Amino acid sequence: MTWHVLGAGSLGSLWAVRLARAGLPVRLILRNAERLASYEQAGGLTLVEPEHSQLYPLDAQTVAAPEPIERLLLACKAYDAEAAITELAPRLAPGAELILLQNGLGSQDAVAARVPQARCIFASSTEGAFREGDWRVVFAGHGHTWLGDPQNLAAPPWLTELEHAGIAHDWSLDILGRLWRKLALNCAINPLTVLHDCRNGGLAEHPAEVATLCAELVELLTTCGQADAAKGLEQEVRRVIQATAANYSSMHQDVAQGRRTEIGYLLGHACATARRHRLSLPHLEALHGRLLDSLRARGLPSH
Ligand code: NAP
Repeated sequence: MTWHVLGAGSLGSLWAVRLARAGLPVRLILRNAERLASYEQAGGLTLVEPEHSQLYPLDAQTVAAPEPIERLLLACKAYDAEAAITELAPRLAPGAELILLQNGLGSQDAVAARVPQARCIFASSTEGAFREGDWRVVFAGHGHTWLGDPQNLAAPPWLTELEHAGIAHDWSLDILGRLWRKLALNCAINPLTVLHDCRNGGLAEHPAEVATLCAELVELLTTCGQADAAKGLEQEVRRVIQATAANYSSMHQDVAQGRRTEIGYLLGHACATARRHRLSLPHLEALHGRLLDSLRARGLPSH
């Protein structure tokens, strides 16, 4: 069965190349004819790995191609996911399976609501990749990907294909817990690194601010039925701050480079969920407000 991959960005390229190297049929889906022409001119995707870089001339098409899709890796940003799947929905075959690679929460439900006929598998990944230029992606950090389906706990048979492709993964029976935990870690660290304009390690100078946010995030997760995902949150946040002290967070990097952030699916989603539960989390709300101000001041979208 063909792996259709929407979004030849960082993670999409990383998946597409590894699947193709394992001999599996892969087809990239690009935004429009202009992007397809640019891709064809480049002659394929280049993956830069520590030992070597190589060009992979994978098949590509636009969203408008007629071919039905049975399995789709949705590898765009969270804020593009719903629009992308809406465009692609007419091409989905009955019983199609979607793997949603988006970080944060909120986009997965929005996608699932658009394609009730499809099985939506959520993913949470610690792999690292970035675009060095168009159609050129650097594999920056090996990691692991957890996949799961809150509606159907049975693992799909094609996980063996990921194994052949060397994509380290596990099937998770609690993918929502994983996504909530990752979201909470992100909310406790990333916005503060933007507001204090510092590396992750810089937050060691703001322990009280971090602790207060963690306490509110624990309250939020517990209210959402994610008590397990809330366990030991503050200790893990402190550990991550220490272990990644020299790094700039992804949100800091996005802001520094004038790129749109995924705030609406991270801190924005946390605050919206709290409001829906009529839960008062004043420090989280204040953090959100300060971050929105800071993004607007830079001319960046606030959702
Ligand atoms: P990215 O490098 O910005 O790539 C996104 C790709 O999606 C772009 O190539 C973009 O096309 C494409 N796209 C958007 N809308 C489209 C549409 N309607 N049709 C076709 N293509 C479309 O993003 P990323 O870093 O891979 O991130 C993807 C998701 O994975 C995010 O939620 C991110 O948080 C998560 N994630 C990323 C990493 C990482 O290391 N990169 C790690 C863990 C999780 P154009 O090139 O035409 O703009």
